Amino acid sequence: MTVSKKMLELGKQSSVIREIFEYGLKRKAEIGTENVFDFSLGNPSVPAPPQINASLKKLIDSVPAEKLQGYTSAPGDQTVRDAVADYIKKTFNFAATSELIYMTCGAAAGLAACLNGLIAQDDEVVVFAPFFPEYRVFVEHSGAKLIVVPCKEDNFQPDFVSLEQAITAKTKAIIVNSPNNPTGTCYREDTIQKLAEIMKQKQKEFQKPIYILSDGPYRELVYDIELPYVPHYYDNTIIIYSYSKSLSLAGARIGYIFVSPLAENANDLFAAICGAGRALGYVCAPSLFQFLIKECIGLTVDLSIYKNNRDLLYNGLTDLGFTAVYPSGAFYLFVKSPLQDAKEFCEHAKKYELLFVPSDSFGYTGFVRIAYCVSTEQIVNSLPAFEQLAIDFNLLP
Ligand code: PLP
Repeated sequence: MTVSKKMLELGKQSSVIREIFEYGLKRKAEIGTENVFDFSLGNPSVPAPPQINASLKKLIDSVPAEKLQGYTSAPGDQTVRDAVADYIKKTFNFAATSELIYMTCGAAAGLAACLNGLIAQDDEVVVFAPFFPEYRVFVEHSGAKLIVVPCKEDNFQPDFVSLEQAITAKTKAIIVNSPNNPTGTCYREDTIQKLAEIMKQKQKEFQKPIYILSDGPYRELVYDIELPYVPHYYDNTIIIYSYSKSLSLAGARIGYIFVSPLAENANDLFAAICGAGRALGYVCAPSLFQFLIKECIGLTVDLSIYKNNRDLLYNGLTDLGFTAVYPSGAFYLFVKSPLQDAKEFCEHAKKYELLFVPSDSFGYTGFVRIAYCVSTEQIVNSLPAFEQLAIDFNLLP
């Protein structure tokens, strides 16, 4: 066959997360939805705010179809990009300009466009493990080598000693994801300051820019802390954002890239990202949803529901003797597997209709990710099943 061998392999590989999700669908059909405790997918469960539907209706009724459903400019409608720039200025007190904003089909397209815009032959991109599995796909497709730096296991914060060793003359960028998928950890101001300090030193040492790609689709999903805005701390920063989680618009495929105006040669950097967007066929993010964002910018889903889920699950599981990283954001709990092989542990949990994902999928061993973007009822009803699991592994205090 004459197709690309690399793409054929990628297309045929099924993700473990998807496999577990599909298994869950099958079980739900067999024994009833309410009897399966599916914590596998990071699909937002809290409904979008009511203003979303109201604004969609208003847009459909009031904006001519040729505008609402036609092409916008390649990087997005100018008035939408202006609205995003204004939002960044007001919310983060950072001087954003619409000239450096590119509307994208979610963070996935944003990451792919940034990496393809940046990468030259022999470049390396550093990620902290555990990490969102698609990072490997996007980085390797851009032609770069993925360099994995494990986090500190006691709190899943970056290990700066290992980071310093991992950054070389070949490093083009590092990807930072806070709030984090899969651990739910967030990086506080002192962490971002330290990170920026190291990166500045390395830029000086190697006499070249090294970029921070700040992948922040969970930015608003924080429960106990204030998140620093990375461009305040490091000039060569590119923000990748998405409304998938904050507005539960994962299927709308809408987000943006924002290149800091303080980045070296920001205009050329942005132009290279536009070029990559063009080469990848990512121009003109869905128009209807671009206009929707302009109407609804600044709104979020009801975050108290995720916070309540977080508290119920974290307290419930730690009371049963499980060890978990305390998550300050996103909607994931990262729990230590009582078996060395987390895959085996996930298989065992199926006995009680509990479905979650081994950390191996995220480039890390010995943990499982439990996505709590589910109904609160599911969490409450699942606790007896978790208790059975705790009994099997002798965890009960
Ligand atoms: N980055 C991280 C860390 C994610 O968890 C996800 C999705 O779950 C994405 C990026 C992609 O998000 P989007 O739906 O906006 O493409």
